[in-house]
Amino acid sequence: MEKWPIGVFASIDAGLGVKLEVAHELGVPTIQLHAPAPATRTPQNAEAFLKRLKEYGMTLTAVFGGFEGESYADIPTVARTVGLVPPATRDARAREMKEIADFAKLLGCSVVALHVGFVPHDKHDPLYLQVVTVTQQICDHCQRNGQSLHLETGQEPADTLLGFIHDVGRPNLFINFDPANMILYGSGEPIAALRKVGRFVRSVHCKDAKWAARPGEEWGVEVPLGEGDVGMENYLRTLHEIGYVGPLTIEREIPQEPERQKAEIAHAVRLLTELKARIG
Ligand code: MG
Repeated sequence: MEKWPIGVFASIDAGLGVKLEVAHELGVPTIQLHAPAPATRTPQNAEAFLKRLKEYGMTLTAVFGGFEGESYADIPTVARTVGLVPPATRDARAREMKEIADFAKLLGCSVVALHVGFVPHDKHDPLYLQVVTVTQQICDHCQRNGQSLHLETGQEPADTLLGFIHDVGRPNLFINFDPANMILYGSGEPIAALRKVGRFVRSVHCKDAKWAARPGEEWGVEVPLGEGDVGMENYLRTLHEIGYVGPLTIEREIPQEPERQKAEIAHAVRLLTELKARIG
């Protein structure tokens, strides 16, 4: 694959991505896919999906897990509902994540990813060890499938994330770096964080955001690519610096406004194409 193929985050029937035909209209060569709903994750659907990808000439580069009951309404709600951290849903979600990895395998995809949730920043919190253990189990399942697991960044400062990856201690655990999430959650300046965790970055999101007045207490605001505080040119230069050559996957999380979402992603494709020509 060429360096930095452009991609978009896509969805079938769950998640905030664009529809596959929109990805096709945008003319991008790669997609990441939000895992479809459980009832849709059948071998027949996998086959039909692969056929469409082939028709469109697109490569699937990662499958993202997501779960019923997750809410990104505000930061405390994320902590309470997202990923593998909440104890009440952890076992069921771990099982589902393994099923999602198996579905990704049917799609021939060797990368699965997820928002693990708010990993406690204090290693002595009993929740911390529980999240380490469940992540090890999922990594081991992925390993048997010949897959790696990518953690979406956002909720943790870079040092917490590095400590967590170290404690999980699995060779197939990597990072999907999302610079906008660092700003939205107020978990650290994204470019400095990217330099710190660079050696684990195996996939990225191209998304932009503006800092909140009180970062970490309230949300920042997601904005069209190039209009936020990430600094796209600096972002791409830093990706180049750390030796990242994988896809640049655009994410714009406004599925409630599909026309605007498509127009803004088209603009993002142009911006990245122009930056790639200069930097890549
Ligand atoms: Mg993201």
